[in-house]
Amino acid sequence: MAVSDNPTVQRYYRSNLALSAAVERALAQAGTRAAVEAILRAYAEAAIADAHDYYLAMRLDAGVRGRFRMPVETPNREQWDASLDWAMQQPETALLGVGQRLVANAGRGQILAGIRADAKARRWARVTSATGCAFCRMLATRGAVYRSEESADFRAHDHCGCTIEPLFGGRYEPPAHVRADQQLWAESTDGLSGGDALNAFRRAVGA
Ligand SMILES: [Zn+2]
Repeated sequence: MAVSDNPTVQRYYRSNLALSAAVERALAQAGTRAAVEAILRAYAEAAIADAHDYYLAMRLDAGVRGRFRMPVETPNREQWDASLDWAMQQPETALLGVGQRLVANAGRGQILAGIRADAKARRWARVTSATGCAFCRMLATRGAVYRSEESADFRAHDHCGCTIEPLFGGRYEPPAHVRADQQLWAESTDGLSGGDALNAFRRAVGA
């Protein structure tokens, strides 16, 4: 799956998908709220550790000099409780989606924390699949996002496998499938904005 031309990004993307699949399998077996929380804590820890190592590997790959002490993020406990309170009242499939999102967001939060704390990192790009949903592909067409931008929060839905590529200067060239989507976006949304533009892009992607 050519999500990126960078092998480190590809490897991380694949290991994240495996982690998402594993947490959903584990949640499907969980009988109690306590079991759900224990599973999510364990997987979120793994996601944070993976994200931490990935960030430092990317930094090294980019030839950034100097030591960097990366802060370690912990997920927002209240947000977790609120999401779980809701999900436990829904059919089981909702819990799988919410659980996957919480774990994936723990990893994303760790990468974003690194970018915020690192004077050598200024931008990031969304890593998305060529067969992803129109929403994620639209966000990926925006290319490199500056960390200072107000919209720099990572928007994700349940079961979203998108990750983050930290960028350390130089020119950012999106992978071929994102460049193709940029062209498709320009062609299909001409004169449109907001939800109308996304709907037009969604139709173009589906066509
Ligand atoms: Zn996505």
